[in-house]
Amino acid sequence: MAVQQSPVEAQVTMEKIAALCKRRGFIYGSSEIYGGLSGFWDYGPLGVELKNNIRRRWWYAMVQVRPDVVGLDSATLLPEIVWKSSGHLENFADPLAECQSCRRRFRADDIDVSAPCPHCGGTLTPPRQFNTMFRTHVGPIEEEGSVAYFRPETAQGIFLNFKNVMQTTSQKVPFGIAQIGKSYRNEITSGNFIFRDREFDQMEMEFFVRPGTDDHWWEYWKEQRFRWWTDELGIHPGNLRTRNHEPSELSHYSKQTADIEYAYPFGIKELEGIADRTDYDLKAHMAGSGQDLRYFDQETQEHFVPYVIEPAAGLDRAVLVVLLDAYAEERLGPKPGDVRTVLHLKPKLAPFKVAVFPLSANKPDLVSRARSIYESILPLMTAAWDDIGNVGKRYRRQDEIGTPWCVTVDYQTLEDGTVTIRDRDSMTQERHPADQLSSIFLERLGPI
Ligand code: ATP
Repeated sequence: MAVQQSPVEAQVTMEKIAALCKRRGFIYGSSEIYGGLSGFWDYGPLGVELKNNIRRRWWYAMVQVRPDVVGLDSATLLPEIVWKSSGHLENFADPLAECQSCRRRFRADDIDVSAPCPHCGGTLTPPRQFNTMFRTHVGPIEEEGSVAYFRPETAQGIFLNFKNVMQTTSQKVPFGIAQIGKSYRNEITSGNFIFRDREFDQMEMEFFVRPGTDDHWWEYWKEQRFRWWTDELGIHPGNLRTRNHEPSELSHYSKQTADIEYAYPFGIKELEGIADRTDYDLKAHMAGSGQDLRYFDQETQEHFVPYVIEPAAGLDRAVLVVLLDAYAEERLGPKPGDVRTVLHLKPKLAPFKVAVFPLSANKPDLVSRARSIYESILPLMTAAWDDIGNVGKRYRRQDEIGTPWCVTVDYQTLEDGTVTIRDRDSMTQERHPADQLSSIFLERLGPI
């Protein structure tokens, strides 16, 4: 029987999400047994499933179903000359102010630099530019020629491979090159759980267009990307907005940028940026490398340097907003404990699609039947096994991690081969023949 759901019991907070992530194995602090390293996170068994599912939805929408976009997976460490040419050595910096008493450092655009230190009241130094790229050396000798930097965006690897992709595929402008991978920024301050990290994954696509058509494609990608967040990830449109940058906010390479922003518990902040990078990067690498990176248009027989529209989203921020948006505490009855925590995740995003329970862990007949059902689902989709505590407690545990369907094997199963399927959102239960489970779940999940 369906339980009457009342409206949301309590608001979501960052503390609740972080605690749930730790408790249930979504996300742990990195190097935790040594006290941790600020801005670095490890994804646990459930977190890696959720993160991979979001990654897949992006790749599906941006590469798989688009004949005009191809994929790439390029190196994360690039030599100094790349960053010199791209302008990152000079410009990839945030303003930093340091307290002269407690030595704490702040991003000068986050605080009032004319006031005393927000921590101890001491005097702040005037802001100076702090380059946020991580520097290292490649090879056994630490000489100037071996300097390399971890990429602070995946985009440069795409520009460096523009010629390779043109020569090895039949793509014609307009077309895109997409990649998902690690980026590194030595952020002055990290924080708000996985919102601002020093190592994070980005999902970026460089879409190469004919100069003069960039305004059209910028508007096109703004709209496409907004729709991806709502349709593919299920984010409530009311929690999202698109905001065009003021000229003073633009990065060194950008003609125009729009941010898709989310209403996080700590304020409305960026989730994805859609930038019109013009021909800045390709021209910069032409100048730096001496290579011809122009595109040759077969029809008009002309060479030109394409303009680039770049939708750039953070995968970790996507994990965060998916969790914040799906989280609910719902009152199920009058007693104080009658509240469930539930993640209303889209089934395609849920770490486990199905959980299988034997009604009782002490009845070998039920356990072996449930086990064979569980094992028949595993090759098709992720599934969990739970035989601890009563079925009500198992539902609560699965609700909290967003499992859309729970299958219970009971005494009736042994008689007529049917099981119950309990739905996470409606909390209703239906009986179905066990041998139809795979097709039922595959149909409910939809294509890939
Ligand atoms: P912010 O203004 O928040 O510092 P940004 O404008 O520097 O972000 P971009 O360079 O546009 O960010 O990067 C594209 C996307 O990569 C961002 O929208 C965000 O989702 C993600 N991202 C950037 N920096 C970080 C970070 N330190 N931790 C996690 N994700 C990040």
